Amino acid sequence: IGAFRNHSFSSRVAPYSRSLKTLVLAEHDGGSVKASTLSAVEAANLLGDGNSISLLLAGSGPSLQEAAQHAASCHPSISQVLLADSDKFTYPLAEQWAKLVHVVQQKGSFSHIITGSGSFGKNILPRAAALLDVSPITDVIEISGSNLFVRPIYAGNALSTVRYTGSDPCMLIIRSTSFPLKPASAGSVSNAPSVDKVDTSSLDEDDAVGKSKFISISSQDTERPDLGNARVVVTGGRALKSAENFKMIEKLAEKLGAAVGATRAAVDAGFVPNELQVGQTGKIVAPDLYMAFGVSGAIQHLAGIRDSKVIVAVNKDADAPIFQVADYGLVGDLFEVIPELLEKLPDK
Ligand code: FAD
Repeated sequence: IGAFRNHSFSSRVAPYSRSLKTLVLAEHDGGSVKASTLSAVEAANLLGDGNSISLLLAGSGPSLQEAAQHAASCHPSISQVLLADSDKFTYPLAEQWAKLVHVVQQKGSFSHIITGSGSFGKNILPRAAALLDVSPITDVIEISGSNLFVRPIYAGNALSTVRYTGSDPCMLIIRSTSFPLKPASAGSVSNAPSVDKVDTSSLDEDDAVGKSKFISISSQDTERPDLGNARVVVTGGRALKSAENFKMIEKLAEKLGAAVGATRAAVDAGFVPNELQVGQTGKIVAPDLYMAFGVSGAIQHLAGIRDSKVIVAVNKDADAPIFQVADYGLVGDLFEVIPELLEKLPDK
């Protein structure tokens, strides 16, 4: 797939200088800050020298306190951890979070607000941007300065360079796979950041929040690696024909210590839940090895896998578009190939 750069703004526009102060909206689970948030911190580091980075954590109870401890020791670039402790944040609902970001921005006057591109960030940041009356920039894959960003367009077939000329804060959703955690950043905190509480009393009194409410959460087997960060991903498409048959993909993933992915057709057919969808409207993955079984290679699917290091495809149609991007391709029936692989691969 060819990519070209579309320089939307003239290079004669001089970059303007300002002091950098970045707020990273943090996602946490089970007492730990998620990897996508650490990627957002890595991205914040690229905005320029002297950037002071604050992490905003919201939640309630002991899991928030554990996450706060993790946040204070998980990345050397974090200078402040802001804690919003309220029952309103037990689950990350967009309305409450957006209001919180608004309150924190009014007090902190951040030049940038960043988050990762999972459903957490995509849900919250645009709503917060609307409250702050700025245009967010989504799907950022490269940061060339404090106001110059690269993002894919046309399902990743073109790259657009965008200069932000609006007022503060400049709000960004970054693709986590484009800003991996640097090995030097992991577990090397010498100066612990300050941990400050956010006053949430104005939110508690606000009737405007609370239009949506939390009903339930269902999550997949936590033993499998997270799809967005997995080193190996095994994906099944419509060709699997049923949820029962899709279990072959799950078994193969288990043997390979891989995450399971699916095409939108497989998700729409009800073989697997929506959270496994890979692609333009699903998750973006960048594993070392991506294995696609019975996947045609539609452009919207390829948009989510283009950063994979090695792509292996098995499809019974030799003309399937997936073979144009595959490093290794096998023309064959997955109902023969997968059982053979399961038989020959050793147990993990
Ligand atoms: P198909 O296109 O039906 O392909 C099935 C393939 O399996 C075929 O190539 C066939 O040759 C092969 N096959 C059949 N039987 C066997 C067998 N026994 N052994 C081996 N191979 C076999 N799709 C996504 O995946 N992710 C997205 O995020 C996404 N977003 C979208 C957003 C928009 C706005 C739109 C319009 C579409 C989006 N789609 C997305 C859908 C996308 O266009 C395709 O429809 C979808 O990816 C096709 O899924 P598939 O490859 O499983 O199915």
